[in-house]
Amino acid sequence: MKFEQLDINTTLLNNAVACGYTDTTPIQDQVMPLLRAGSDVLACAPTGTGKTAAFLLPIMNELLGSTDIADTKALILAPTRELALQIGLEVEKYARDTAIRYALVIGGESIDDQLYLINRGVDLIVATPGRLHQLLDEQLIDLRALQFLVIDECDRMLDLGFITTIRKIVHKLPNKRQTALFSATLQEETELLARELLRKPIKVEVKAAPLDMALINQTVYYVDKQNKMNLLLHILKEEAVPSALIFVRTRADAEKVADALLKAGLDAAALHGDLEQVDRQHIFKDFMNNRIALLVATDVAARGIDIPTLTYVFNYELPNEPETYLHRIGRTGRANKTGFAISLCSNAELRFLKPIKALIGKKKFTTIEQHAFSYAPREKGTPRNSASFKGNIRNKTCDITQSEDLL
Ligand code: ADP
Ligand code: MG
Repeated sequence: MKFEQLDINTTLLNNAVACGYTDTTPIQDQVMPLLRAGSDVLACAPTGTGKTAAFLLPIMNELLGSTDIADTKALILAPTRELALQIGLEVEKYARDTAIRYALVIGGESIDDQLYLINRGVDLIVATPGRLHQLLDEQLIDLRALQFLVIDECDRMLDLGFITTIRKIVHKLPNKRQTALFSATLQEETELLARELLRKPIKVEVKAAPLDMALINQTVYYVDKQNKMNLLLHILKEEAVPSALIFVRTRADAEKVADALLKAGLDAAALHGDLEQVDRQHIFKDFMNNRIALLVATDVAARGIDIPTLTYVFNYELPNEPETYLHRIGRTGRANKTGFAISLCSNAELRFLKPIKALIGKKKFTTIEQHAFSYAPREKGTPRNSASFKGNIRNKTCDITQSEDLL
């Protein structure tokens, strides 16, 4: 339906429309009326389908209707600090020009700062389970007036082993509350958890739309490992890529690739699990706000991160699981905008490419063998043809410094 038709607070509605939303997504269509009617909901829909707004808008609408201003009435639990931060940014957008106040309760940051905010009074808290549990346990935070609980990215919560912590948190919350559980996939454990924590839950499921893939231009370049950086620099320049998420396999690779990009004079940063939390958050925020153009990330660090303006995803290294490939490229081609997924495939990675192509369909890929840094994928024993310049016209416009030590 049209956003304008949603019967919610006008400021809230205008803020959502100001985000560029015109129509609600299918999961929003289904979840919003249920939450507004007071039902507990178990909602499952693929990543990038607008689940955050599906719970935030109805809850924030209730918060705006509430007269009792001092207490925290809504709690959103997210599995990682990055996701909590991202939800926080979305709360900020929708809360513009309203009296809604929120706080983040996440690990790796000053407890005192978080408590200071909370003690001044917040309507909504976005939290990761560990830190929230700590504050509840030490009775530093009072959630006795809580009315809404959302557990977001439930599948990841389970994967990361947060189930016990979540149980402990929920035991400290009022029984009389509305609870919603959101997930990108439905595992058996998710349903069990829903049965345990939710009251007469209504299950809503939206399946992945296969059409989405049509919006993503998928290109594979065959290239020798040692030429990947040169090729990446070449593509970035050639296609005037404004901003990109670049996936690598390991933390060390993330550092190396980001360093090489920096050396080439580009605006890049690495995001991976070895970084201090404060640094991760800065980097993440800078990328979200377009202050960093190129983010080089490992799968774990980037999981669940959604950047609405992202048009380019690079697989600097191919993942070994085809599902991971889908996850990676699913971050672009959102909301009817075309996205580009560019994979740099070395000879050794051909074995990863095969299952990826099998999963997605060979026809969806454009394969580029002839380019400034081509090699021909070869059978064992055939002569090597690496790093040859094939006289492609692209060469002529490529004035990027070639460097052996880039990677
Ligand atoms: P999910 O949690 O399902 O992975 P998000 O809530 O993070 O997805 O939303 C993905 C992107 O879609 C965000 O950038 C969000 O701002 C945007 N979005 C949400 N609802 C709509 C809508 N109705 N129309 C267009 N874009 C939307
Ligand atoms: Mg989400």
